[in-house]
Amino acid sequence: MSVAANELSRQLISEAFREDGLLKSVIAGYEYRPEQAQMAEAVWQTLSDGGILLVEAGTGVGKSMAYLLPATVLAASSGRRVVISTYTVNLQEQLVSKDLPSLNKFWEKQGIAINWDLVKGRGHYLCLRKFNRRYDQALKQTDLFSYTKPEEDLIKELKALIDSSSVAALPPADPWSEPEDTYLAYEGSATHPDGSFPRDPAGEADTGPRDELPTSTSTTGRWDGDVDKLEIKLPPGLWSEFSSDTESCMGAKCPYRTRCFYRLARSSLDKCHILVVNHALLVSDLRLRVETNGNTRLLPAYDTLIIDEAHHFEPVVREHLGASISSWRLKRLAGDTLREARSESLARFIGKKQVDSLKDTLEGAINSLETILDSLLRQVKSRESEKARLTQRAFIDEKLVNALREVAATVNTWLNYDLTQEERFEVSSLRRRFTELANELDEFNSLEGDGVDTVYWVERASAGGTRADALRSCPLEVADYLEENLWSELRSAVLTSATLTVGKMKPFDYVKSALGLESAGELKLGSPFQYEEQACLCVPEDSRCYDPNSPDFLEYVARVIPQIADLTLGRCFVLFTSYKAMDRVVQSIKDTLEAKGFPVLKQGDGSREALLSEFKRLGNAVLFGVDSFWEGVDVPGDALSCVVVVKLPFSVPDDPVVQARSELWESQGRNPFRSYFLPKAALKLKQGFGRLIRTKTDRGAVVILDPRIATRDYGKLLLESLPPARITTELEDIARAVNPPSRPVTSDHRP
Ligand code: SF4
Repeated sequence: MSVAANELSRQLISEAFREDGLLKSVIAGYEYRPEQAQMAEAVWQTLSDGGILLVEAGTGVGKSMAYLLPATVLAASSGRRVVISTYTVNLQEQLVSKDLPSLNKFWEKQGIAINWDLVKGRGHYLCLRKFNRRYDQALKQTDLFSYTKPEEDLIKELKALIDSSSVAALPPADPWSEPEDTYLAYEGSATHPDGSFPRDPAGEADTGPRDELPTSTSTTGRWDGDVDKLEIKLPPGLWSEFSSDTESCMGAKCPYRTRCFYRLARSSLDKCHILVVNHALLVSDLRLRVETNGNTRLLPAYDTLIIDEAHHFEPVVREHLGASISSWRLKRLAGDTLREARSESLARFIGKKQVDSLKDTLEGAINSLETILDSLLRQVKSRESEKARLTQRAFIDEKLVNALREVAATVNTWLNYDLTQEERFEVSSLRRRFTELANELDEFNSLEGDGVDTVYWVERASAGGTRADALRSCPLEVADYLEENLWSELRSAVLTSATLTVGKMKPFDYVKSALGLESAGELKLGSPFQYEEQACLCVPEDSRCYDPNSPDFLEYVARVIPQIADLTLGRCFVLFTSYKAMDRVVQSIKDTLEAKGFPVLKQGDGSREALLSEFKRLGNAVLFGVDSFWEGVDVPGDALSCVVVVKLPFSVPDDPVVQARSELWESQGRNPFRSYFLPKAALKLKQGFGRLIRTKTDRGAVVILDPRIATRDYGKLLLESLPPARITTELEDIARAVNPPSRPVTSDHRP
């Protein structure tokens, strides 16, 4: 971009964020916020000049608009594509359904169309080939791996819907024009490698109106293959049998290619300026690109990236670079194999005796894996972690690995039979999956790189009501991987969150070192809220009499919470770091609180959304929560007037990843407490605090019952990381800090 064009764009952004700027005309209730304008200018500078910028923007800054306007300016002026990644679905929906449509009004006034789309992982889309194949084969069978009657009914209903929805909407491609055995996850075509759009001879960016593009959203009343829009409620396990995935996609050779739901959804992306994705999809795309040397990808090419909710990025990267072996995975593979063995084609060559023997082998392998998982899970000590680190090698019976290799060899012999191209693809895919599983089990058995660059553990889990206990592994650090494969490939990136910094001295150091961003630029913006006036932070004087790790601390907590509820008229979140502690306290004070007229809600008694909506409806409830209520919860107004933090949110030290990383740092001469536990706790505490003040008119109190914040030397760093509220040690002060209830409370309480 020329210097003059760059300056014009900078001016446009600067003017748009003024008190009477252009944004006022397109955003209902727009208010000038100097922090937002400052962030937008810094984001623009990074996007236009290149580089990487970290921005911490306090609650209320309006950071999404502060990066969206510069992103759309970049797209409109240079044709570059911008990928925006978030952690939560809520934020994605806000960007796609509210913020971008508002900004589009601004661009329409300039005569420029901006295209955007929410990109979902391919697992959201039904694979027509898999579904039709299953439908033809599986419904005929009745055994351990076949469907139940209710499942059969659902599948038939789905079949009718698909038959009325699926139409050939894509140009047929000549399968032979693509290299043999190349199955592209994403067939980008219209973009340059840097992610910019091809230009027409007049040099204009391709910015055709959104409704001229093929759309993944059905405007015809037909279902578009997206599970989120499916009205038939399938159990998650059943959906995963039909959902699209890279390993079973035939790509150019698929007989359903012209009507493929996934391809149809992806076909519009090449023409989008802004792609909104989640961190998981962003990392899956990255991993696939790295593993295939850039030949396969899930997203179109891009060189400009904005990561919001960036404090979640590192854990998501770590999780997605790891491995997972569950009995559910093996069961699914076994089911696929037996279905294939019984298919009409293979049944001509494979006798019943052979199939029965294969079934016995597979059932034996499943039992063996489940026995191993059960025995390892006995080491799990706490409900907080549900994980136990694997430290002993050779815990997997060689016979299990050998059985899987034998099945892979058996499946391989099926390729000698006279099969169709699709059947050969299925058989090859099964063979590959067995080999991969056996190799991964070998890796777990040897604990390769344990404690050096990898950590291994067993985890108790469930998915959609089904047990999904698994052997898991992940890298200990992801900084080098990101530096080498992501940051170095980008022209510019902005990472932002309300919680990126810790303390006042070198506040970005923790996030920089975790993400491999040592030389990134920094911008820390306060909140437009007047915390000194709107909030008080109370560390009660009498809390100093208790050791937070002693049993009488919980008795103190049980005594003080009803007092706090009296002072704030309910309207409290009480945040714990342990289910056990929460259950004990709730059990001992539930009756007391309810007798005082304060309804009690507890995490686990309903979904998070249901509990939150009940909390807002009641207006005087006390809600007890553990992990998921510390962040991402938005209760503006006086229904939430007080947040009680029972204990400082230090990570569970026996979590396998935390344990292994601590050992690694100690061996490197680093202090794990200062390098990890403390910054993590500071960020989480800041998130918890952030639940309180959501608007300029909110008032309230945060009460920290853990005395260590006042008595330990590290308490200073934790306090420095929090918004600048008035500090008190008198519990009574919180009554003056909260707004009176704005409406009568609801006495009708249905937990
Ligand atoms: S192209 Fe791939 S995802 Fe689409 S129907 Fe065929 S196999 Fe399924």
